[in-house]
Amino acid sequence: MLIGGRSRKQLRRATMQKTIAVTMEDYTYATESYMGWCTECQEFTRGETEGDAENYDCPKCEQNTVMGAEQALLLGEITF
Ligand SMILES: [Zn+2]
Repeated sequence: MLIGGRSRKQLRRATMQKTIAVTMEDYTYATESYMGWCTECQEFTRGETEGDAENYDCPKCEQNTVMGAEQALLLGEITF
């Protein structure tokens, strides 16, 4: 489980190099209110998303491309 998740993350990091800059305020707000980051829309689109969530559905583009704010930062999807 852990190993599979790790290799999946490395694959994603290798294929998706685009990192979106967000403000510290946006990130803090997102983590506190459990907002999910959509890698497709490149913004916080989803509520009720745990910080370490992955592959959640996006209410905007309707793809499973939402991850938790902490996870997005960890994987380099967003930065400050
Ligand atoms: Zn989306």
